Amino acid sequence: MAEKGTISIHTENIFPIIKKFLYSDHEIFLRELVSNAVDATQKLKRLSAIGEYKGELGEDLKVKVSVDKEARKIIISDRGIGMTAEEIKKYINQIAFSGATEFVEKYKDKPDANQIIGQFGLGFYSAFMVADTVEINTKSFQEGAEAARWVCDGSTEFEITPSDKAERGTDIILNVAADSDEFLEPARLRTILTKYCKFLPVEVEFEGEVINNPNPIWTKSPSELTDEDYTKFYNELYPFSEPPLFWIHLNVDYPFNLTGILYFPKIKNEFEFTKNKIQLYSKQVFITDEVKDVVPEFLMLLHGVIDSPDIPLNVSRSFLQADSNVKKINTYITKKVADKLNEIFKKDRAGYEAKWNDINVFVKYGMLSDEKFYDKAKDFGLLQNLEGKYFTMEEYKAFVQANQTAKNENQVWLYTTDQEKQHAFIEAAQNRGYDVLKLDSVIDSHFIGMLEQKLEKTTLKRVDADTIDKLIEKEETKDMVLSEDEKTKLKEIFEKAINNTNMMVSVEPLSPEDQPVIITMPEFMRRMKDMAKTGGGGMMFMGNMPDSYNVSVNGNHPIIQRILKARDESKEKIARQAFDLALLSQNMLSGAALTAFVKRSVELIEKE
Ligand code: ADP
Ligand code: MG
Repeated sequence: MAEKGTISIHTENIFPIIKKFLYSDHEIFLRELVSNAVDATQKLKRLSAIGEYKGELGEDLKVKVSVDKEARKIIISDRGIGMTAEEIKKYINQIAFSGATEFVEKYKDKPDANQIIGQFGLGFYSAFMVADTVEINTKSFQEGAEAARWVCDGSTEFEITPSDKAERGTDIILNVAADSDEFLEPARLRTILTKYCKFLPVEVEFEGEVINNPNPIWTKSPSELTDEDYTKFYNELYPFSEPPLFWIHLNVDYPFNLTGILYFPKIKNEFEFTKNKIQLYSKQVFITDEVKDVVPEFLMLLHGVIDSPDIPLNVSRSFLQADSNVKKINTYITKKVADKLNEIFKKDRAGYEAKWNDINVFVKYGMLSDEKFYDKAKDFGLLQNLEGKYFTMEEYKAFVQANQTAKNENQVWLYTTDQEKQHAFIEAAQNRGYDVLKLDSVIDSHFIGMLEQKLEKTTLKRVDADTIDKLIEKEETKDMVLSEDEKTKLKEIFEKAINNTNMMVSVEPLSPEDQPVIITMPEFMRRMKDMAKTGGGGMMFMGNMPDSYNVSVNGNHPIIQRILKARDESKEKIARQAFDLALLSQNMLSGAALTAFVKRSVELIEKE
């Protein structure tokens, strides 16, 4: 006997509204229907396990998806708990449809419905995004239950009739709408299934083949797993990637539920970071790989999966950020990652150092962006010097204490950003017994600023920021062989020879072995210039300023005497030659200046 009824919702034409607002996400209908089939199967297994269902489970509990292009049908079948006619009325007509009404009312104005649809009991309803008639043919697991058939054509009216279905379970039959032809293509369906259903906990069969891995390793206990299991799974997630460096198995059930595996990728360069994204699952159903807000930003550099039914997907982004579960998840993940790094560092320092090249950007980014992470990472964040030795910050402090403490009692840490270009300065520093750090990645300029803020009484200077004596100013002052008069005279000669107001000339008592002229850019000036280059806030005006340099003339160098004693017309020429040599050593000599230098050099050689 057929029963007809009207679905009680406020909006008469709710279907077209849903269809319109979910336009871009039509494909998720399959995720929703397959998840329902999986839920129904798992419910039956649970009932059987606790003895509430005494019948046979049957051999084949697979969920089966099939498509009939000619007949324009997609069918999703399961051998789960099924529904009685009464249950259809309750769960489909009332609950699913009231969820839909609620959804439309709340989210009319928001286009990103993908994330919210499942949360409103809107799952089943999404079938109408691609079908103009949906049919449920189902038989409940309960003893003596009668099979029922429900049909709805997308209006608010439905029909329930008895069915001759013999087997327990549910078939959902979609009669695909004219504008949804794409979903009749098996290849398209396969793509959707692999995207969303790849790790569903019950086997899903499509075209005679199981398309999912029902027991992904994140659901298992770490004690059951080998390194190979982890690398194999990584490969399953990101088929063409290099093997990961190491991983963290996440597992927490209080105060929120979360499992997952985060991998530290091996990366070739800093721009490759975001290629493979962390995938977010809810009970093994793929939700999204846009994990922004759920995972702290610096951790988005990692790969892997996070599975949590406690991440609210039914809210807008701003709400998500304020959500207390999300905040706790953030804190938890940050802590786990820091603990893991610390553990590797403690257990196997050599191994950790070998990986430092690959993980340093990540650790530094974390230290820069997250105070809590910094507090932990300060003990395992490393500095590398030019000899290739690694130090924690504490260790480095002790290492340079004796030799690199200036007279104002500040430590000065020297670093290079380019060993080739700054070679002369590095050599000068090393001749003094100073240590030079290698800080040459893009993130290092920010990292340096952070170190100075965090470390007490410590300054960082690039090796070429000043002459060696001034880089680290010590008590002892060098004697100057020149008189005040000679100094003034010399300064004038050089200023005239250089003839450039952006070159600030000073005469310094350097060692006779040092270069006769040394060109440096002050640390603060260079940093501001760098910031302007990378678009640093408020520094844009610096970018337009001409480069200005300090020119230190070594008053103690033998050629200075030669300049002072030379005939007037030769003085400037020799001074210019010495200045050009300094430019040359820094790769700053080019064009007409270089041509003039070469010509002058030839003349000077000829004279000898
Ligand atoms: P949700 O899955 O969030 O509960 P849905 O709209 O997807 O919401 O489904 C509504 C309800 O319909 C389910 O809770 C379930 O009771 C019932 N249902 C849907 N599909 C099936 C199925 N294949 N087998 C048994 N019950 C189902
Ligand atoms: Mg559902």
